[in-house]
Amino acid sequence: MSAESGVPTFRGEDGLWEGHHIEMVASPEGFARDPELVHRFYNLRRAALNTVEPNAGHLALAQLEREWHGRFLLVTQNVDDLHERAGSEKLIHMHGELRKARCECCGAVFSWSKDLASGTRCRACGEVGGMRPHIVWFGEFPFELEAIMNALKSADIFLCIGTSGVVYPAAGFARQAAERASCHLIEMNIERTEISRHFHEHIVGPVSVELPKLVQRLLSA
Ligand code: ZN
Repeated sequence: MSAESGVPTFRGEDGLWEGHHIEMVASPEGFARDPELVHRFYNLRRAALNTVEPNAGHLALAQLEREWHGRFLLVTQNVDDLHERAGSEKLIHMHGELRKARCECCGAVFSWSKDLASGTRCRACGEVGGMRPHIVWFGEFPFELEAIMNALKSADIFLCIGTSGVVYPAAGFARQAAERASCHLIEMNIERTEISRHFHEHIVGPVSVELPKLVQRLLSA
């Protein structure tokens, strides 16, 4: 979704960031070992959100939510806030949000647009050293899986956009939705994927072009 908006992946072809393995900046162990490094990684990503805008694909999904006659839920693995800025309201960030921070001492979650550091004090409990990005790291559980599973069990249309289908549990969502015989499964991607066989319909192309067309079709059906 957001690649076409220019959101940097920060992940090189070699799986490194500034010479550090991605796991070092995206795991509880890495955070314990070098919190300043981890804060710098996410501070850069958070600041980079100021330089990007939602694309036509984000806007199309927000329109679908506004005009769809039935229930709607957007589940994203993205940690940027482009869906919100496009107008989406019913959404779950299963891998967390760059513009939120959490205190590991008291569990409070805050909206956060500035930098984080080891010396950042929690505004709720006053502790120093417990603040971390509200991001799901390697080895941690994605957020709101139960709500996602419940939505999958009753879905009439399952639209899967731009995921490789190799990272679980998200990779299992298509299979879960396909268990409901009446559910129509649509995959949109720039190429066919590992999970393509689960879908009734495949749309190959960029989301900024294909998603507005699909939304018009769904809304006029
Ligand atoms: Zn706290």
